[in-house]
Parts: sequence; structure tokens; C-alpha cells
Amino acid sequence: MNEYDSETMAGLLENSGYHLTDNPAEAGVILLNTCYVREKVKHKIYSRLGELKKLKKEKPQLILGLSGCLVQKEPEVVLERAPYLDFILGTSNFCQLQEVLEDISENRGRENQPEGKYSRIVSVEEGRVIPEGLPKVRKREFSAFVSVMRGCNNFCSYCYVPYVRGREVSRSCRDILGEVEELAQKGYKEVTLLGQNVNSYHKDGRKNMDFADLLVLVNQIESLRRIRFTTSHPKDLSAKLIEKMAELDKVCEHLHLPVQSGSNKILSKMNRGYTCEHYMDLVKKLRQAIPEIALSTDIIVGFPGEREEDFQDTLELVETVGFDGAFTFCYSPIRGTEAAQLRERIPEGISGQRLRRLIELQQKILTRKNESLIGKEVEIMVEKISKKSPDELQGRTRTNKIVVFKGGKELIGSIMAVKIVASGSRALKGKTNSC
Ligand code: SAM
Ligand code: SF4
Repeated sequence: MNEYDSETMAGLLENSGYHLTDNPAEAGVILLNTCYVREKVKHKIYSRLGELKKLKKEKPQLILGLSGCLVQKEPEVVLERAPYLDFILGTSNFCQLQEVLEDISENRGRENQPEGKYSRIVSVEEGRVIPEGLPKVRKREFSAFVSVMRGCNNFCSYCYVPYVRGREVSRSCRDILGEVEELAQKGYKEVTLLGQNVNSYHKDGRKNMDFADLLVLVNQIESLRRIRFTTSHPKDLSAKLIEKMAELDKVCEHLHLPVQSGSNKILSKMNRGYTCEHYMDLVKKLRQAIPEIALSTDIIVGFPGEREEDFQDTLELVETVGFDGAFTFCYSPIRGTEAAQLRERIPEGISGQRLRRLIELQQKILTRKNESLIGKEVEIMVEKISKKSPDELQGRTRTNKIVVFKGGKELIGSIMAVKIVASGSRALKGKTNSC
């Protein structure tokens, strides 16, 4: 979601006459768009800001801004810790970027206003509606993010998202379809529909359309080849959505379904609204409907009160499901969330050790699963030149697995078949008929 917002901010900057550079030293404006899922992120942001402060000293004309979740959470702290910032923008105010830059330039142009000394622009007002039709500079050429909703109503006890991104607001179906159609006309072949919980698209009942209905319409867009979506909350994954996923040819055989823990006691403390049994039942139904489906997940270890036996339950669930990918995290208490008040905090040493054990298990599962693909032919969409070798390309299967293979850059953007010839835990190695 942050990446999607960053694409819009880049679009707004381009509209104001700026263009992107990879080199901070030649930038006129540097804007960091922040996330705040875990405390660790905060340290990274401040250390990056510290580096940029040095650059600003050398180049006082540089306009330095901060936006996103950290700003929304604690604007005063941000301004105190980084008084050299020229502006800050909250999660729903980033669309004011153009006005803010114009104001800064005007202020700087005034007489008696020494270079670099002007009031900072602070805009973190909540609940602003993001206008439709904002320009975007898409990071990728053939695959694009499209937001279907913003915010979250779930209040999982550890999570700060609902506090910084507000309540759920679904975009209109017309606007979403308009954006996807435009992308398809420009040659995009894949879209990823985004929301903190796409399964509750229009769940407020005001509109007679749910996420499954939206998928049906997106699937009808000609020249679009692949549809992905994230994130699906297990408590809201309906039988209808599973049915449509199986039925619609463009919907990829991959689902990110965060389980968070394999212990019902911990799930309840997390306020997740489902049990492990419910989750396992969903996995069964998904695999019955779409046998080749790949499942990935998010897991938090070391949540307050997590005993060794709870963690063992998580390992067991991970083994039983056999995930194709997992984002694993040590619990990070975030002030203002319900879980931050909970007793029975787990010492960092224990959480860290559990995380390592979990990652090790997941790696073993993945290695096993990837090995089983050797000799099979898969469909990939070629995304880019591989980072490891200029002679190799990187593509992605419908099940979201990375495949590296020998090929020329003219193949980028094409959808083709490759045969898997070797596997590793991070990527598969493929071969085309021509090489
Ligand atoms: N909306 C998505 C969902 O419900 O699954 C997830 C969005 S959240 C930004 C991404 C992941 O970060 C969560 O699934 C969770 O595993 C992790 N996360 C969120 N808050 C966390 C915290 N306080 N400590 C550790 N991990 C956290
Ligand atoms: Fe956070 Fe839970 Fe909402 Fe996901 S569903 S964004 S984890 S509160």
C-alpha cells in the first residue's frame, strides 16, 4: 500500500515538473514515505534522515519531506527529532504534495527569508478522501498495483494500521475498473488489487457488490492476463470468493492468507476473529477448489503470553499447511495498541530463537515444495533482467514463484512457458525450448 502511495507521490512530483533520480545528491526534493508496522522501522527511518540531514547541510536548497504512517502516528515527535524537515504529510494528505512544494518555493523566494529558513509545512489531518485520477509513476512496466480500499476496521490487538490509516473505505467499482482498463490499454498484463482486507470490500452493505463480484468484472477486461490480490483476512474469506477464484481464468493460483499464530489462545489475544480449525478448514476448501494453489502467510512469534507449547502449535500448523512462503516477524510492541498493555512479554532472546526455528522449518518446506516442481512446465510472466547475471531473466509463475532462466531482454513483459530444471529455496531455475 505504501508502494502504491509512493507511485502517486512520484506522479504528483512529475506533474510539478520534477523527475525521478536514483542519485540523492542531485535531487531537488527528497521525500521518504514511511511505514510503521514494527518499532525497528522507526530506527531505520531516523538513521536515513540523519544521512539526509548531512546532505541538506551541504545543499541548503534541498527540500526534505517525510510522509506516511510514522508521521501520522507521531507528528510532534517526528518534528522534534528531525527539525530540519521542510514538510511532513500524513497518510491521507499526501495528495497535497504539489501545493506544499509550491508554498515552500514561494516562501523561499521572499525577501528577508534567508536560504533554508522558513516555516515547515505540517499536514496530517485525518480522514481526507483521496481524490480519484491522481497521476502515478508506476514502478513496474507490466504489473501494477490497484487499490480497491483503504483503511482497516479490524483492530488486531498488535497492529497500528487502523490508527494511522483510518476506517475502511471501498473505492467505487467504476473507478477501479477504469484504472485497470487504462492499465490494460497501456500494455499492463497483471494487476494486484490492494487492501488491508480485500475480503471486506463493500462489506458495509451499502453497495450491492462484494470482492468476488469485483473479481468477476476485472476478469472481463480484455488483454489483462493475470489478477492477484492482497491481503485476505481469514475471518472474511467467503465460499463465494473461493468459488470465483477457481472459476476465473485470470485469477492466479496464489493466496496470501495471514494466519499469525497456530495457537487459538494467542489468536484470541490477537483479536483475529478466527480459530486454527477455521483456518485449516479454509485451506482444505481452497485446495479442493484449486488443487495447484500456493498459499503464503504472515506469522508473528513471541506475542505476549506465547508459551513454548503455543509456539509448537504454530510449527505444527506451518508443517501441516506446507506454506509456499511466509513473512515471519518477532512481535514488536507498539504504543497505543491493545497488545502493548498485555503482560507476560516474551524476552527478545526467546522470540529471536523461535523466529529462527520457524524460518528454518519454512525453508525446509519450501525446498521440498520447490524440488517437486523440477521437470514440470510452468507459465511465467517475464519481469526483468536477473540481478545476478545480465544474461538471465527473472519471471514469476502464476503461483508467485520466481523463476530465473537464460534469455534476452526482448522477452521482458511476455508470458511464456519454461521447464523447471533446478530449485533453490528462493528461486527456481528454468529453461526455455530455445536454450
Ligand atoms: N492487513 C494484513 C492482514 O491482516 O493480514 C496485514 C497488514 S500488516 C501491515 C502486515 C503484517 O505485519 C501483519 O500480518 C503482521 O504479521 C505484521 N505485524 C503487524 N503489526 C505487528 C507488530 N506489532 N509486531 C510484529 N508484526 C506485526
Ligand atoms: Fe492490521 Fe489486522 Fe487490519 Fe491487517 S487486519 S491491517 S493486521 S488490524
